[in-house]
Amino acid sequence: MSEVKRNLIAGQWAEFTKSKSNKNPADLTDIIGEYAVGSEQDVNAAVASAKNAFNAWATASPQVRHDLLDKVGNLMAARSQEIGTILAREEGKSLAEAVGETMRASQVFKFFAGEALRMTGDNIASIRPNINIDVTREPLGIVGIITPWNFPIAIPAWKIAPALAFGNCVIIKPADLTPACAHIIAELLVECGAPDGVFNLVMGRGSVVGEAMLNHPDIAAITFTGSVETGKHVALKCTETHKKFQLEMGGKNPMVILDDADLDLAVAACINGAFYSTGQRCTAPSRFIVQKGIHDAFVAKMKQEMTKLTIGNPLDSTVNIGPVVNEQQLKSNLAYIELAKQEADEVFGGEQINLDQQGYYQRPALFIGTTNDMRINQEEIFGPCASVIKVEDYDEALKVANDTGFGLAAGICTQSLKYATKFKRQSEAGMVMVNLPTAGVDYHVPFGGRKGSSYGAREQGQYAVEFFTIVKTAYTFAG
Ligand code: NAD
Repeated sequence: MSEVKRNLIAGQWAEFTKSKSNKNPADLTDIIGEYAVGSEQDVNAAVASAKNAFNAWATASPQVRHDLLDKVGNLMAARSQEIGTILAREEGKSLAEAVGETMRASQVFKFFAGEALRMTGDNIASIRPNINIDVTREPLGIVGIITPWNFPIAIPAWKIAPALAFGNCVIIKPADLTPACAHIIAELLVECGAPDGVFNLVMGRGSVVGEAMLNHPDIAAITFTGSVETGKHVALKCTETHKKFQLEMGGKNPMVILDDADLDLAVAACINGAFYSTGQRCTAPSRFIVQKGIHDAFVAKMKQEMTKLTIGNPLDSTVNIGPVVNEQQLKSNLAYIELAKQEADEVFGGEQINLDQQGYYQRPALFIGTTNDMRINQEEIFGPCASVIKVEDYDEALKVANDTGFGLAAGICTQSLKYATKFKRQSEAGMVMVNLPTAGVDYHVPFGGRKGSSYGAREQGQYAVEFFTIVKTAYTFAG
């Protein structure tokens, strides 16, 4: 058996009592490695080490923080094929997507290396004579990071990099399904010289490690990405323990296709957005809201393109779509497909597939002839499943698009400047795409949603500073 990958606490690879095998969902005989399963005591030790490290890190020259993050970003890019291969094996997305995600994580580290040098404040004249006011930003202290499995390197990167850039110490608990990528980030931070205790990794279960983080009085803030259900729990606990918190959660993202859309472009955006990464993206469109004039042509072309998708082992370069992440998620997807058979007029695709290697494979599913009030159109499925909802005109499309408890991303395909402009203004989502898939974002601009999808400050880009720092207002009398 390979050596167990351990938690990183106080700069040391920590002793462990329990471990868990990390299995490849594309091939259940392939074990990526054995990973330590942490405990409440590990969280306590990580917090103690972060407390010791905080003052020196918070007051370190921004050049020091820049150099660390920049080095991590460079090493990650240099090793992107190797890291991407591990990511594809543990999560199941195609190798090209996994390498792309690794490159994105590298860009994020390098962007926030620069942000460490660009911290600004304000100097404001007082309303009283001879008084000057400075508004400066300070780190929060110890930041707890809780991440999901579907972007196992990019999401940890876009939380760790800004937290460290702005002088915080970090404890991260990655999803227990995908510890390998977070472990690689920990290895890179050690290799690049992160001071002991500044960055801590505690792998393990949400109900144990995550819960211990939420309860710990010395963790100042929690940044969470995951499901709505867990997010609500995180919010309640953080309120009780007086922590700052930020939540990124689920979506039920609409993609509007108007009669004047470029059909090929619209179908390509829908196929890519809804089914690539096995539909396991919070920004994937799952409700295609299609105007009546283009509806039949859209459905026919979608079916034609869906049959061309190759489903299989993500390491095979001819494969477009890998497996579902685990058995539980596959069962949940298949249950929604059964529900769709009752709710929708027609279900195209969606069958479980058995390949030579044993894995959790499923064909993408399209639910045709649906209405927005159906459960399949209100609940997040988080698999390669999308519905078609036929509408009269733009006004009805907009109403349906916004008629959801979520508000992460929304898209429109149209050649009309008028409707594109109206939709950008009238959509109730945090991110709006015109003639593009709803999934696929840049790292130097804000990321986040509205309504049930998100809570708190935006992530990424220059806006990340809002969450990871707190402002201080200082008055100086100079009379
Ligand atoms: P999840 O909520 O099951 O788990 C997320 C994280 O929370 C994991 O690390 C888990 O171990 C931890 N956790 C579970 N119980 C906990 C507890 N009691 N206390 C503290 N931590 C706990 O979500 P998931 O299945 O890993 O991810 C899929 C979900 O993530 C989907 O709903 C998807 O839409 C969402 N997601 C959202 C975004 C976004 O930016 N909006 C991005 C990616 C994924």
